Amino acid sequence: MFDLLNLPGVRPVDLRAANKAIVVIAEAVEGDPPQCPECTKPMYRHGRRTNTFADTPMQMQPVRLEISRPRYRCDVCGKTITPELTFLDEHRRATRRLVDAICERCLGMTFHSLAEQTGLAVNTIKSIAHDLIGDLERTVHYETPVIMGIDEVNLAGGMRCVITNLATNNAFQMLEFRTQEHLKPFFKNLPDKEKVEWVCTDMWRPFKRSFSQYLPNARLVIDKFHVVAMASEALETERKKYQATLDKDERVKVKKSIRWLTLKRPKNLSPAEAEALEVIRQLIPNLAVAYDFKEAFYRIYDEPIKEAAMRAFEAWENTLPDDELDNFHSLAKTVHNHYEDIFAYWDSPCRITNAYTEGLNGLTKVANRMGRGYSYEIIRAKMLYAKYARKVGSGVRIAEKTGGSQTVEYGPHIPTLVEIAESGGLD
Ligand SMILES: [Zn+2]
Repeated sequence: MFDLLNLPGVRPVDLRAANKAIVVIAEAVEGDPPQCPECTKPMYRHGRRTNTFADTPMQMQPVRLEISRPRYRCDVCGKTITPELTFLDEHRRATRRLVDAICERCLGMTFHSLAEQTGLAVNTIKSIAHDLIGDLERTVHYETPVIMGIDEVNLAGGMRCVITNLATNNAFQMLEFRTQEHLKPFFKNLPDKEKVEWVCTDMWRPFKRSFSQYLPNARLVIDKFHVVAMASEALETERKKYQATLDKDERVKVKKSIRWLTLKRPKNLSPAEAEALEVIRQLIPNLAVAYDFKEAFYRIYDEPIKEAAMRAFEAWENTLPDDELDNFHSLAKTVHNHYEDIFAYWDSPCRITNAYTEGLNGLTKVANRMGRGYSYEIIRAKMLYAKYARKVGSGVRIAEKTGGSQTVEYGPHIPTLVEIAESGGLD
């Protein structure tokens, strides 16, 4: 029979169709009887044994290999053995090439469809994926970011800590939670710690403690995104308070969502929206005041020079009315609490790139696409080790000391990761 298996040490002898599978019957090629592994005496044939293994699919159907192997017995010590076949993963009842094929695909496909295609149990696929992730964890290393972003993304039932490379827009690492217990070991074990120059994050206070002792050259900067978001939240509180005071006729006059009109930056309003905003300003003068404070706060970030930004903030704070706009007062307080790190923005490269916000939005999109039916561990691996996304931005460089070439990887490129997720490739 034609050797359709191409596996060393066995030859196919028959083929039959079973329920949703192709069964290949194969026999181990027999050589000379082996020596007893216990007492080195020659062994004798002692019947055969047949076992079934899953193999790579054929004709889009799962394949089951029924392999019949000779057994041998030692007359002296009574030991019996079945010679091993190197292409088998005995533990998984599958050929190694099938396990390899599953490793290639399991982070880009659902476990259920892989189980269906191969005839293996879903749990076996899971266990293969689990081992693969362990290997990846040990062997894949990404370049330590010079500009590091640290934030939280809601994923697999919790707020996960994502660490990004803001210079290249790649995902660098993901931690189960953003706590001292998770961050400290991460910073402690980070290779090339001295490379990190900037750490860009939000106003989470314990953060400073967890990194400052480990990253000797890093400065903390609080990203604009988180600071201005507080101005929008403060405005929202005012809007909710005043919107309720409008009567039915007045509401009809506005036509559009007051929320969106007031949250949008004026430059992004269409002429019709700008007109509607003007109507709101007339109807609710108190909201107009709050709106102007929101806009003035955003404009602090339009200042090109740090000192000018500091002065703009001071002027903004000084014009806040004393007993009103509580949320804007607490915003001012927060700015004072993080003054140095907020205004470090003007010294940092985060000001030039928008990578922080883009990366965060990108990862949130990816998270929204996934997250059903997988554990955190699997989702993390699907994001962090997605093969195609890892190729973008990575390359080869010449090592300084040895002169040899060295592969450099930055981690999965976030916009590429979003593309893959949106086409269903991370499901
Ligand atoms: Zn023996």
